[in-house]
Amino acid sequence: MKNEELAPHIKDITRALKGKVSEEEIEQELQKWIQKYGVDINQAKRSIVNNLGGDPKELFTPSEKKIKEISGTERNLELKVRIVSINEKDIEVDGEPKKIHYGIFGDETGTIPFTIWETLPEPLDKGDTVHVINSYATTWNDKPQVNVGSRTRMRMLEGDEVPEFKRTSQRCDIRDVREGMSNLIITGRILNVEKKTVQTKNGEKDLYSGIMADETGKIQFSAWHDFGLKEDMVVEVNGGYVRSWRGIPQLSFDDNSTVDILDDGALPPKEQLEESGIMTISQLARRGGAVDAIIDAVMIDIKHGSGLIFRCPECNRVVQKSACRIHGKVDGEPDLRVKGILDDGTGALTVIITREETEEILEYGLDEAMELARDRMDHGVIKEALEDKLIAQPLRLKGNVTCDDYGLMLIASEVKEKKINMEEEARKLLDEVRV
Ligand SMILES: [Zn+2]
Repeated sequence: MKNEELAPHIKDITRALKGKVSEEEIEQELQKWIQKYGVDINQAKRSIVNNLGGDPKELFTPSEKKIKEISGTERNLELKVRIVSINEKDIEVDGEPKKIHYGIFGDETGTIPFTIWETLPEPLDKGDTVHVINSYATTWNDKPQVNVGSRTRMRMLEGDEVPEFKRTSQRCDIRDVREGMSNLIITGRILNVEKKTVQTKNGEKDLYSGIMADETGKIQFSAWHDFGLKEDMVVEVNGGYVRSWRGIPQLSFDDNSTVDILDDGALPPKEQLEESGIMTISQLARRGGAVDAIIDAVMIDIKHGSGLIFRCPECNRVVQKSACRIHGKVDGEPDLRVKGILDDGTGALTVIITREETEEILEYGLDEAMELARDRMDHGVIKEALEDKLIAQPLRLKGNVTCDDYGLMLIASEVKEKKINMEEEARKLLDEVRV
């Protein structure tokens, strides 16, 4: 265990021993128990406290906090909360599929995003109240959130033990929507909506999800109640809350929210809103991601792993020298893509351009690309062709922007050259001069 990983445990022991033993001495003891005797960290902590004249029970006096008090650095965090929203997510850990849950906890002082990294001991549903013991807090984009890990215990409470958080609603442009917001008033036009049936603890539930937009941007939504939402409708949602996944915010609302249908003229027509929400990279960084965003930027670099690539037939990872990182030697399947860096003057992000769009940029398909590479006996020719077409080129791109530990990433669903119309620019200039 590294020193920084030991630090919180050293603090726990120091607290349990009421500061009678120095942190240096505790660290030495801890290293000894773990490295020399090979005992696990919790056993080591109990033994050390016991040997140095303390009460091991003191190690586990967790700090109960209200949501408003959470700073994002807590370990041993104890909470009594109500589940405001909960979603399921399939992720991959070391190549293994895993089901995790994320959502929003609430109490009378506020709301906070949470992630449950372990399989649920019992099913949880919106509205359940739970006692969470030994969770920990972290921050994401400067906002605290609660993590439920392998050492956390959760116990169901009676429904009325946790008062609901009542905040006066706040009106918000879609561009300004942030992770963890609740009681929002959002006006948007529904660009698309689809009905899904999902399995919850209390049986099957209908979910209406899609994308809505205003002049400032677009957002994914999930309605947990049939409000009769239809494509192209302009609605005002009162009582929505926001949770994001990999940086893409999602607006949820349910039967505690109200939805009013507004006059069609309240927002510009659908075609115009489809193109709304041009965002700068610094805006995206502040927000953490976006669905169907539009970015005007210049391609400044094309990375290794662009052009003609080969993917593992098992896991779809890009193979290097016919070897997959997980599956070893494989017969890779050919694909085309671009992995590059975009810069718009406010910041930079990684962009992935998928096969279809890459073929359009090259003006030929995968078969022809294979032939070209064979003729020249070099796969690199396709990457070079893409560099010629894209580097230093002003582009308009559209797609979902995610955000994780590696930063922002745009998965481009549309790439267009942003032609600067000289004639029009000149006319504009002249008009300005005449005025
Ligand atoms: Zn593989």
